[in-house]
Amino acid sequence: METIKIDKDLMNGKGEWNEKDHPRDEKGRFTDKGNSNTIKKHNNLYVDIYGINDIMNLEAFVPAKTISQAEEYAKNKLGVQICSYKGIELDIANELNAVVQQGIILCPKIKENLNFIGSLNELNNLYEKDLIDFYFQQFHSSVPQLGNDRCLNMAKAFAERLKIKFDNKVYAISYKKINMADERVKIYNKYAGVSINEVWGKDKNIILANVKKDVEDRWHPQGCDTIKSIFDHEIGHQLDYALNLRNNKHMINLYNSISKFNKSVGLSMYSNYSIKEFIAEGWTEYINNPYPRDIAMKIGKIIKKELES
Ligand SMILES: [Zn+2]
Repeated sequence: METIKIDKDLMNGKGEWNEKDHPRDEKGRFTDKGNSNTIKKHNNLYVDIYGINDIMNLEAFVPAKTISQAEEYAKNKLGVQICSYKGIELDIANELNAVVQQGIILCPKIKENLNFIGSLNELNNLYEKDLIDFYFQQFHSSVPQLGNDRCLNMAKAFAERLKIKFDNKVYAISYKKINMADERVKIYNKYAGVSINEVWGKDKNIILANVKKDVEDRWHPQGCDTIKSIFDHEIGHQLDYALNLRNNKHMINLYNSISKFNKSVGLSMYSNYSIKEFIAEGWTEYINNPYPRDIAMKIGKIIKKELES
């Protein structure tokens, strides 16, 4: 079992993130990633992204000028079947498209689970409509004597039960396809992918202020207080789905070898939630923090190895 070096500086409060040491551009991206192909030790922090950011940026991203253009980009360029950015601010829609594009360049297999990207609320509306249609057909063909109105009311009641219930605290969600030969599962699978909660996606200033606070509170990893990092977390889940990272023995050993306390201070409090969140949080720090800490480095290395195999 691997052991994690305890970051004493961090634990005694000296190793705080110093924002002014890490300049950013106007979009909040770090600009000090110049040596991303090399590993350098610097004050016990590592400057390295193992070239992963360079790979992901191989193809330039062209931001859309309107929401409908962003939706077209997602469908035509990224190959997702359904995209709706209704109610989402353009910059946020562009950021999700950009991050998904980078994820696909890095790991084309994630496309298999990307049927939908866009607004979580719209996802739920479309999903509900499909379920109502499905149940209406079921009732109508099996008990036609009920009549259209009753069939529709019953269909709506059944669809309501299956609708996705989500906590408004969540920024974004990654749904995973389920492998089952059930018509309702097929409908659900149409919406596998990455979605952003409209409550947060409608205004980048609101979401940025919250994410910044999350990082200060150690809820999310250091260096991960941008909109990009929220979506990178979701791509971390997509990589887990594509590469089965949660069952990777090195990942399991790593997860089990670090105490809850050390995960909280050395990665993030949220990483304690499950091995799935541990992977997503580690991935996010690995590619966003120009000085990824030990745990993120180890998670990143395992993922990189899987990407290369
Ligand atoms: Zn997550």
